[in-house]
Amino acid sequence: MVPFESIMSATVLDGKKIGRLIEEELHNRIISLQSKGVSPHLAVVIVGDDPASHVYVRNKEMACERCGIQSTRIDLEEGISEQEILDTVHRLNSDDSVHGILVQSPLPDGINESLVTDAISPEKDVDGFHKMNLGRLVQGDASGLLPCTPAGVMKILELSNIDVSGKNALIIGRSRIVGMPMSILLAQRGIDATVTIAHSRTENLSEICRRADLVVAAIGRPEFVKSDWIKPGSTVIDVGINRIIDSSRKSGYRLVGDVESGASDIAENITPVPGGVGPMTIAMLMSNTIMATEIQSQ
Ligand code: NAD
Repeated sequence: MVPFESIMSATVLDGKKIGRLIEEELHNRIISLQSKGVSPHLAVVIVGDDPASHVYVRNKEMACERCGIQSTRIDLEEGISEQEILDTVHRLNSDDSVHGILVQSPLPDGINESLVTDAISPEKDVDGFHKMNLGRLVQGDASGLLPCTPAGVMKILELSNIDVSGKNALIIGRSRIVGMPMSILLAQRGIDATVTIAHSRTENLSEICRRADLVVAAIGRPEFVKSDWIKPGSTVIDVGINRIIDSSRKSGYRLVGDVESGASDIAENITPVPGGVGPMTIAMLMSNTIMATEIQSQ
């Protein structure tokens, strides 16, 4: 039974609790690897001083500590060259004690992010962004290393018993990291949603949204999706994490999603921000790290 609580009319899909269950379920696999003398090890490369990126990386390190996964953080200076980042990735590729490599996004301007992603050995690509891992997914095989955020969304749906077969799923945003792989996962055989991908050129988005049984918002604009776009009884997955200024807070900001908060009065199920998709992304990163370790230690 998945933990949830009801507030107002929507059931809040608690990503933090579901994510912790997923992390706990990794325990036996980690013990089994350790009994063979293998210690799962994630290397996280971070370039520059972006405060949000540093928070994300710290959260990933804390998850590794919770799970018993070794983590190594490699801090690179803002002005570092693309070649030096690639050299770091190559060094980690050839280090047999490292099973997972993640280069925190975004990289500074002028660095070709795809080039860096594709330099990671596909077996160590725990973010699931390498063209070989994405290509496998496009071919209909979702058993490999999947991008963590869309994989986390699929887990929320599965463990909350939300069946999207034959339903209208709207994904707002077509990024390589979230929207595009999300659409493939939802349309795959066995999941069988009827998928629409909306983006910055989409016309009549509000109308399309009102017909959607499932809305996945991955835009990066605070409360862009309005409450009156939401179909009663639908499921809303809010991927967005937006910092907005709030002088009443010690930090000076607060986090809001891409969906207006009033949507929870209309939808049947909704993910909160924070505490929804974010912790699921981290749990899936832990899961990918264990899968990568198992693949490499076969
Ligand atoms: P991105 O900037 O790469 O993509 C945004 C997408 O939104 C684009 O495809 C664009 O076409 C679409 N878009 C922009 N304006 C639009 C409009 N007016 N109407 C319709 N579509 C529009 O962003 P991303 O990396 O996919 O991230 C999106 C959001 O999700 C951000 O807030 C990011 O912080 C968040 N995010 C959260 C997690 C998590 O773990 N919760 C993980 C990754 C990203």
